[in-house]
Amino acid sequence: MLDAAWHQFGINNEESETGNLSILRRSLSCPSHSSRLALLRSILDAVVTDLVQIRRRVETDGGENLRFRRFLKTHHFPDRLFRRIAREVEQQIDCMACANCCREPRVNVSCRDIETIARYLDTSPEEVVKEYTNLDPEDRETILRQTKGGCVFLDGNLCMVYEARPRACREFPYLVSDQRSLGGRMSSVCKHASICPIIYNTLEAYKHAIGYHRT
Ligand code: SF4
Ligand code: SF4
Repeated sequence: MLDAAWHQFGINNEESETGNLSILRRSLSCPSHSSRLALLRSILDAVVTDLVQIRRRVETDGGENLRFRRFLKTHHFPDRLFRRIAREVEQQIDCMACANCCREPRVNVSCRDIETIARYLDTSPEEVVKEYTNLDPEDRETILRQTKGGCVFLDGNLCMVYEARPRACREFPYLVSDQRSLGGRMSSVCKHASICPIIYNTLEAYKHAIGYHRT
């Protein structure tokens, strides 16, 4: 039964028994936690998409995500489980109906991003820089200009340069990438939990999956 559950979340039995991962297995085998997988399943089946509710929950959590980050530093759990949960959550959330990351963005753009957008808009890179970017006064990085409604390229919930959007937009919310460890990304992940339903729901499901107890 547990083996099937491990398999369902992309972890085989051999992996789960290595190192500190046995903690995770013990946690899920414990009779008092035997319903955790069912709970996890039900969380994944009922993701929260209300942006106001998500923001309120994160902002009033009393620093829980900070404590969770500290917890992860002292316990090792498989990144693969996190990515698998993130993929399941992503499948249930319609980014076109959300677009919240385009309303509260700080999008860094590289020279390559600017050239790609310029080609897409049939204009010059200099024109793109002039019309659509700013220099961040703090770190002097080039970022996309913002309007009252969010990103300069946002039209309703649609990105006007979607096919040519910057790399930062293509990769957000950075959950399923396996190029960097979860530990290395956790600060950025938690920072965006209040604005992104994919991040929020993935974090909450992951906490349940690994048996993290709120304090
Ligand atoms: S470039 Fe497009 S995807 Fe990126 S923040 Fe702007 S509207 Fe959103
Ligand atoms: S990535 Fe997150 S914030 Fe952006 S549109 Fe999708 S769910 Fe919304």
